[in-house]
Amino acid sequence: MTKLSSSLKPPVEKIRVEDIYYCTPPPLLAKMKQLVVRTVSWRTINGLLPSLRKSLLRRMLHDKPKCLSEMFQKMTDIPKQGEITSVSHRLFMANGIYYPSSLGVFTLLPKGLRVLQKLIKLIDQEMEAIGAEKIQMPSLVPRRLWEKTGRWEAAGSEIFRLEDRHKRGYCLGPTHEEIVTEMVASQLNFHHQLPIKLYQITKKFRDEPLPHHGFLRSREFEMKDLYTFHATEQDARETYQQVLQAYENILNRLQLHFVKAEADTGMIGGSQSHEFHLKCPGVGEDVVYTCNSCGYSGNKEVLEKEECPSCKSQDLDSYNAIEVGHAFLLGQRYSKPLGAMFRTQEQKSRVLEMGCYGLGVSRILQASVEVLTDGKHIRWPKLIAPYQIIIIPQKKGVSEDIFQEITENLYQRLQSVPSLKGEVLIDNRLSITIGRRVVEAKLQGYPYAVVIGNKAIEREDGLEVIDIYSDSKSITNLTLSQVIDFLCKNAISTAE
Ligand SMILES: [Zn+2]
Repeated sequence: MTKLSSSLKPPVEKIRVEDIYYCTPPPLLAKMKQLVVRTVSWRTINGLLPSLRKSLLRRMLHDKPKCLSEMFQKMTDIPKQGEITSVSHRLFMANGIYYPSSLGVFTLLPKGLRVLQKLIKLIDQEMEAIGAEKIQMPSLVPRRLWEKTGRWEAAGSEIFRLEDRHKRGYCLGPTHEEIVTEMVASQLNFHHQLPIKLYQITKKFRDEPLPHHGFLRSREFEMKDLYTFHATEQDARETYQQVLQAYENILNRLQLHFVKAEADTGMIGGSQSHEFHLKCPGVGEDVVYTCNSCGYSGNKEVLEKEECPSCKSQDLDSYNAIEVGHAFLLGQRYSKPLGAMFRTQEQKSRVLEMGCYGLGVSRILQASVEVLTDGKHIRWPKLIAPYQIIIIPQKKGVSEDIFQEITENLYQRLQSVPSLKGEVLIDNRLSITIGRRVVEAKLQGYPYAVVIGNKAIEREDGLEVIDIYSDSKSITNLTLSQVIDFLCKNAISTAE
């Protein structure tokens, strides 16, 4: 048995935890006592120079396997049937993705936050690709700026308003056209600085009268907003097309089917607008029309006459959808009242042309699950699943040490693959059967589960991978190397 297990792992020398103790400073020692340190791939710890010893210890603390039993997993009691009306909302509450703090306001829990951060990373990559720079604007937006553009009145009770001790008015920003335009206006004088593309991914606020469906209609949410500034309308239009393409790239990388629909410009204002929708009959609150003759799509407002504006056909399909993105060609809607000018080559003063572009980040996080779920299991867009791989070793019992060795060895080897670093989790709740933990892994929507059952110590090719997103297809009789090869090929990450 010993021979077999050693063939499954690289040569390592066993070091007892006690052996490390006497060379470890007391604060680290206390921390290490909490760790299960069984094997290290270094020759010995005693003979090392102090600097090497230090780096070994740091490495050991750092590479400590991520285990499910040590993670905070708040499971929320689900309110009575009827109060929760979308599948994704129910699944998020039941599986510790978020916790409701007050009406329409949520605490994002560790797994949910990992998904959000992956989504942000993906968006950052696509924004950088079109030359946009990231900034961060304040949540407190001064009333005086909103008065200049007339939105303080127009917004009515949609926004959260507040006053400071000096009776100066603010709102909690739902979008940031005013702040960014004033800032750019104060900085910019010359045409050669243009175009400017600034975006942020921050909390936004809206006083929804009846928040529901969790992040699909909440009061506090994460949004990406991009603002672009141009010398000419032509330039603004070119950027508009670039951003639409970036949005398509983001949704394609998430493998989501989306509809790009022409839209009216509403409260934001401007001359041209498109929305990005996920078709969702049950929960979607927007109505989108698609022309059966030419494929044109538009929202309810632009298709009031129930006639395709592109080919005049009246053969239209209508369906409910969730809006996840919005693009506006703003013209001078904000730059004019806020005095955002630039000087041309001929030293003439001109008003800037603008575009603004929103993506509902926390909304995408939930809407994607709403459209991908089978009704019972969380199904993330694979790219942003909180962890790509969960390892499920045999339950507590005979040969526990060998199972643990195989598990930790597999974990460390997967960790050393750059694209999989941080993507591996061990379900070390060894009092629970493999079967039950597999059921839970499916529910939580980890794309791949590696099962280390009895076969794994009976024979070299005794490992199993469950491809959860492909109808939980089971791939058996794999060696350790085959498992690693398979996961390297199939698991995906936002790491570049
Ligand atoms: Zn048409």
